Amino acid sequence: MTTALPTTSALETLRTVFGYDEFRGEQAAIIDSVVSGGDALVLMPTGAGKSLCYQVPALVRPGTGVVISPLIALMQDQVDALAALGVRAAFLNSTQSLDQRRDVEAAYVAGELDLLYLAPERLSVPSTLQLLDRGTIALFAIDEAHCVSSWGHDFRPDYLLLTVLGERWPDVPRIALTATATAATSSEIAHRLHLDRARRFVASFDRPNIEYRIVPKDNPRAQLLTLLRSEHEGDAGIVYCLSRKSVEETAAYLTKNGITALPYHAGLDAGVRAWNQARFLREPGLVMTATIAFGMGIDKPDVRFVAHLDLPKSVEGYYQETGRAGRDGAPATAWLAYGLADVVQQRRMIDGSEGDAAHRRRLGQHLDAMLALCETVECRRVQLLAYFGQDSEACGNCDTCTTQPQTWDGTIAAQKVLSAVVRLDQRGQRYGAGHIVDILLGNATPRVTQLDHTTLSVFGIGSELDAAGWRGVVRQLLARRLLAVSADGYGTLELTESSGDVLRGEREVALRTEAPTSARKRSSGSGRKAKGDEIPLDAAGEALFERLRGWRAATAKEAGLPAYVVFHDATLRQVAAEAPTTLDALAGVSGIGAGKLDKWGTSVLEVVAG
Ligand code: ADP
Ligand code: ZN
Repeated sequence: MTTALPTTSALETLRTVFGYDEFRGEQAAIIDSVVSGGDALVLMPTGAGKSLCYQVPALVRPGTGVVISPLIALMQDQVDALAALGVRAAFLNSTQSLDQRRDVEAAYVAGELDLLYLAPERLSVPSTLQLLDRGTIALFAIDEAHCVSSWGHDFRPDYLLLTVLGERWPDVPRIALTATATAATSSEIAHRLHLDRARRFVASFDRPNIEYRIVPKDNPRAQLLTLLRSEHEGDAGIVYCLSRKSVEETAAYLTKNGITALPYHAGLDAGVRAWNQARFLREPGLVMTATIAFGMGIDKPDVRFVAHLDLPKSVEGYYQETGRAGRDGAPATAWLAYGLADVVQQRRMIDGSEGDAAHRRRLGQHLDAMLALCETVECRRVQLLAYFGQDSEACGNCDTCTTQPQTWDGTIAAQKVLSAVVRLDQRGQRYGAGHIVDILLGNATPRVTQLDHTTLSVFGIGSELDAAGWRGVVRQLLARRLLAVSADGYGTLELTESSGDVLRGEREVALRTEAPTSARKRSSGSGRKAKGDEIPLDAAGEALFERLRGWRAATAKEAGLPAYVVFHDATLRQVAAEAPTTLDALAGVSGIGAGKLDKWGTSVLEVVAG
């Protein structure tokens, strides 16, 4: 046992092992609390530094920190990254051979592990519980704790097994961490994990370096390509699509257009998925096109953009996915293309989903909040943070702040759309948006003519807008539930309880003026946070930085590690700026702890010496 005060040894650990000078935000308070044996529930956005909150106490307290994580595919990477720091870490999951498991178990029992990562399903095996009894447990860390929430977007039934931790080991402190939590989700986490009395730490959820943009969907793949070519040439990024087919097609489309993109979805062979994930983490500038099966736990710091080609199902999901951009604090883009078809499709999916009426109602509420974010004329960030219960001011770094969308009085246009639905209904018919737009525009298509819809009183009354304009009106009416997708499964439209107010002229409808669909050219001022906290380098410094990056690439390749596990860009920049000549001086650079100094210090000095 150490005699030093916990806080002192925690800070010492931060400095010697991780090579950082100071704790950030609430880290010190959280770590203090856990080191002294208290339970904690930690809500912090991605990139804020959750890992240290359990890694440092695991090193300070006697015994092994047991980390419960659903990220089986990333455990090897996590353990490798800790090994690079000189931390003794291992994992137990279903991918290992019996021999590998035995080695890890023996190391744990012998007290030779600082951290042990466990997949939650291991806790259903009695031998795992008995094994844990045979060693000393410093703490339990429950990573991605929102997976216990049954109505969140990442529910894992195995997480319900975690109540055993508090029951069987009441004296071992537990720390649950997540980057996603509305008030409802965080109460559910506390309740399900029996952490009602745990100290709660809630960080600001703002990610100021991420620019949020939501654009009308036109030709989404072409829009994406324009965005990548004009603003993200050579950058690493993630493109989310709803379907597996769309994932594959988008990857092929980007690759054909000269941007290396890899697909990732649950239908691909496990080996292919693992290979694509490893390439994304290790090779610079790759684009991953994926379903939401990809991304949780990915800690690649330099993901420069996250693009959504389809509407996410909830704000929580959207925030979690976009949060994977810009973990390094440098400017990053969250871009979403969204259109009428998304609304129709999602409403249909909800109607067709399994579960009871209450479940469908909840899905509907999630979707409504997401649609409100898409249609807002206020700052996107203000609305996002408000969703997580946090107040803020207009950010200046989202599309509504920089382009200030206008509204127009869409009452008459809304009445025209709703009237068309009424007229069809009077004939006992329902149609989808495309047909209704044709009627309003007076397009005598074969279908319109054949159905005798040229004789409707609303035929041709909508010459003031073009087809895209009308689709925008329909979309906004759907988003506000002034119009609904019927439950017939064909995407036809019907009135809602509120439609009558509009038709009778008792309710005005202000609509958002549609922004042009092309990706905006970045004006020189818009990257205002660009390189904000980056250390400036002179020409010699830049040259040295590039040499250090070259050394890092070779070193990472040889060790089979992602480059950022060796050193982050920010660390190499500081080395380039200070050009240290001794190991002592090198140790003063942020991100260089004793382990890395020992492994790579001498080689770095050689590169600096030239
Ligand atoms: P999270 O799990 O919350 O998404 P991480 O734990 O991966 O975030 O931390 C994000 C990044 O910030 C990592 O590169 C980590 O090394 C760095 N970091 C965390 N805490 C500190 C600190 N106190 N000082 C400097 N860097 C830190
Ligand atoms: Zn804003």
